[in-house]
Amino acid sequence: MLNVERLCVKKDGEFEVLHECTSAKNAGVKKQERALYEQRTQQNLQKLAVMQEKLYADGKEGVVVILQAMDAAGKDSAVKHVIGALNPQGVDIVSFKQPTKEELAHDYLWRAVRALPTRGKIAIFNRSYYEDVLVVQVHHLEKTYRMAERCIDDDFFEKRYRQIVDFERYLYENSYRVVKIFLNVSKERQKERFLERIDDPAKNWKFSQADLKERAHFESYQKVYRDVIDATAKRDTPWYVVPADQKWLARYCISEILVNTMNEINPEFPELSDEEKAGLAQCRTLLTADSQEEKEKNKK
Ligand code: ATP
Ligand code: MG
Repeated sequence: MLNVERLCVKKDGEFEVLHECTSAKNAGVKKQERALYEQRTQQNLQKLAVMQEKLYADGKEGVVVILQAMDAAGKDSAVKHVIGALNPQGVDIVSFKQPTKEELAHDYLWRAVRALPTRGKIAIFNRSYYEDVLVVQVHHLEKTYRMAERCIDDDFFEKRYRQIVDFERYLYENSYRVVKIFLNVSKERQKERFLERIDDPAKNWKFSQADLKERAHFESYQKVYRDVIDATAKRDTPWYVVPADQKWLARYCISEILVNTMNEINPEFPELSDEEKAGLAQCRTLLTADSQEEKEKNKK
C-alpha cells in the first residue's frame, strides 16, 4: 500500500518530485485496490478515535492540522469523512475565510493564534495563515494593505515565509504538532467537479462564480504553492502532498498521516499517583457500603 512518508516534504526541494502527484495513477496506486484502501481507512479511523481519547486525557500535546487546497479538491469532504470520525468534543474546526475588517487591522497570525486548540485537542484549520502567502501573493493583495511602507517591500513574502517557519517552530517547542496537508487536485479533475456542481441541483450551492475566477489563476497558484511548501517544510513541521483526484485515496492518506502523527505523540492515559489511587480505593469502599445500606433499607 502507498506509504504516506513518500508524500512527505521535510525540506527545500523535495516538493519538486511530488508536485505532479495528483492521482492514484501518479502515486502508483491501482484503482482496483480501492476496496483495500477503504478498509484500511476505516481501521485507521477506529485507531484514531482511541488515540484521540488518550490525547485528550493526557493533555500534553495539541495538534493543528492544516488543510490547504484549490477549490473542489475535497477539503470539506475530508473534514466530514475523516475528522467526522473523531469525538467532536476534542476537535475544533476553524475555517479561514476572507479576513474581516477587524482581522485585517491586526497582524495576519492574530486570528490563527486565537484559534489554537488547548493541549489535548485537535484543531483542523480549513485554510489557514498560509492564505496570507498564497491568495495574497497571487493577487498582490499586500499592495492594498494599510501598513507602514517599510514593511511592504520586495521581500514581503520571503519575510512571511520566515515568520511562518518561526511561528511553527515556536508551536512545536511549546508542545504542539503542526501537520500541513496540501490536497493536490489536477486542473482536469477540478473542472469535472465544478461541472458536477453546476449540473446537479443538489450541489449547486457548492459552486460560486468566484471559483471560476480563481481557476483562471490555477498555474500561478501551483507555482506559489511550490514556493510556499519548499520554504516552509521542515523536519518537525512537514508538509504532505496528498493526491486528491480520488477522494478514497485522499481520505486514506489523511487518515494515515493522522495515525502516524498520533503514534509519534504516543499519548497515554495519565497514571495516578499513589495518593490518588488510595483516594479512589476509599471512594470504592464508600460506594459499596452505600449500596449495601440501600439493600438493607429495601428489605425492610
Ligand atoms: P468552500 O468553497 O468549500 O465552502 P472555501 O474554503 O473555498 O470552502 P470560501 O468561502 O469559498 O471557502 O472561500 C474562502 C476564500 O477566502 C478563499 O477564496 C480564500 O482564498 C479566501 N481567503 C482566506 N484567507 C484569506 C486572506 N488572508 N486574504 C484573502 N483572502 C483569503
Ligand atoms: Mg470556495
